[in-house]
Amino acid sequence: MFKKVLIANRGEIAVRIIRSCQELGINTVAIHSKADEDAMHVKMANESICIGNNSAKESYLNIPAIITATELTGADAIHPGYGFLSENYRFANILEEHDIAFIGPKPKHIEVMGDKIKARETISKTGIPLVPGSDGSIINLNNLKKTALKIGYPIIIKAASGGGGKGMKVVYTEDNLKEQFELAKVEAKANFGNDEVYIEKFLENPKHIEFQVFADKHGNVIHLGERDCSMQRRHQKIIEEAPAHNINILEKKKVLKSIISAMKKIGYVGAGTVEMLYENGKFYFIEMNTRLQVEHPVTEMVTGFDIVSEQIKVASGQKLKIKQEDISFLGHSIECRINAENSKTFLPSPGVISAYHTPGGPGVRIDSAAFEKYKVLPYYDSLIGKLIVHADNRDLAIARMKRALNEFIIEGIDTTLELHKAVISTKEFKSSNYDIKWLEKYLARKQ
Ligand code: ADP
Repeated sequence: MFKKVLIANRGEIAVRIIRSCQELGINTVAIHSKADEDAMHVKMANESICIGNNSAKESYLNIPAIITATELTGADAIHPGYGFLSENYRFANILEEHDIAFIGPKPKHIEVMGDKIKARETISKTGIPLVPGSDGSIINLNNLKKTALKIGYPIIIKAASGGGGKGMKVVYTEDNLKEQFELAKVEAKANFGNDEVYIEKFLENPKHIEFQVFADKHGNVIHLGERDCSMQRRHQKIIEEAPAHNINILEKKKVLKSIISAMKKIGYVGAGTVEMLYENGKFYFIEMNTRLQVEHPVTEMVTGFDIVSEQIKVASGQKLKIKQEDISFLGHSIECRINAENSKTFLPSPGVISAYHTPGGPGVRIDSAAFEKYKVLPYYDSLIGKLIVHADNRDLAIARMKRALNEFIIEGIDTTLELHKAVISTKEFKSSNYDIKWLEKYLARKQ
C-alpha cells in the first residue's frame, strides 16, 4: 500500500480524498495555489506545499510544479480528483515515467475516452448502443450535410475533445448548418485546442443516466449501478440521484452486461463512468469519464462501497475483495450541488462566507471544503459543497433533502440553495418526470 499520497486538486474533492487516506492510514500531501493557503484541504493534509500562483494554469494544472512537489515530499502516488489533470493522459504518462503511481485508469484508456470520436469508435465495437452519429470527424460542410441527412435532423455538433458541456451546437435544419459548423469549430479550438468535431442525432427529451464501473488490475470488473443526472442547466449537472427512477429494467440489465464485457475486453482499471442518454426506454452511449465523478457519493450511499478508498487500493495493486453478487443497492440517495452563484443569473458569487451552518441528523452527508470566514475564490469553479441524503426510499429521501436544505445556512455570498429548495419541491421532481431540458424550461417560466 502507498505510504504517502499527494492530492493534485483542491476544494471538496481534495478533502474527500484526504478523508479516505486517513482511514486507510496513508499520509497526505496537499498542493495549493497562493490564494488557497488557508484552504481546508491544506489544513487537513499531513503536509502541504505551495505550487504556484492563483490561476489554475499556474497551480493545479502546473505539471512540472506538481512533479517537483511529489519528489520533494516523497509521495509515492497522486490522486487527481476530478477536473484539472484527472483526464490528462500526458500527465498520467509522465507520472509513469517518474515512477509515481497515478490513482486512475491506464493512460491509454484516458486518451481514447478523452477523444470522443475515438471513444465512439471503441465503444461501437463492444455492443454498447451509441447515439446515431458520424463515424469519425466531420471534415467539411459537404460531409456534414450528407451525414446530417442520413442521421436526420435535429443534430448536435460536438467537439472531439469537448468537456463541461461547452461548445455543443444543436441544428434543426440545413439552413443553419454552415454557420453552426464554423462556430462549433472555432469554439472547439478556443476551448480545447482542437477543432475536430463530430455529430450525433440530437435527442429531444432524454434523461441522462450514467453507470458506475469499477475494475482492478487483475481483470475483475463490477458495476455499482446507475445515477440519474438529468437535472441540468447548460449541460451541467445540478442534482443527481441513485438509483434512477422509472427506467426500463430489462434494458438496464442488457446495457450493464454489455458495459461489463466491454470493460473486461479493453482491460479497464479503476473507477469509470459510462454516460448514456435514455429516451423511449432505450439507452445510448455519449461518453465515458475515466475518473471519479462529482456525483460519486450517491452511489456510495446506496451501495456502501467507498469508491475513493477502493481507487487507492486498486491503484496499489490490490485485488477487488468484493464481487458483483456482494453488492446490494439499498434505499435512495440524492445530491444537490450547492454553488456560489446567484440563484437567478447563475453568475459566480465569490466572497467571504460570513455565517455557515451545515445540516445534520440521520442520512445526511456534506462533502464540502467551506467553513465560516472561508473566502470563495474567483479563480476556480463555484462549487461550495455537496449536500447528499440517503433514505429507505425516494419519497423519504426527498423529504430528508427538503429538511436538510432548510437547515443549511450560508451567508455573505449568493448560493443556489433556494433554487434547490424550489426544484426539489416541484411535482415533476417528485414524480421523476423530468429530462435534461426540464430545468431550463422551469427557469424560463419563473423569469
Ligand atoms: P461534456 O463532455 O461536454 O459534458 P457530453 O457528451 O457528456 O459532453 O454531454 C453533456 C450533456 O449534453 C448531456 O448530459 C446532455 O444533456 C447533452 N447532450 C449531449 N449529447 C446529446 C445528444 N446527442 N442529444 C441530446 N443531448 C445531448
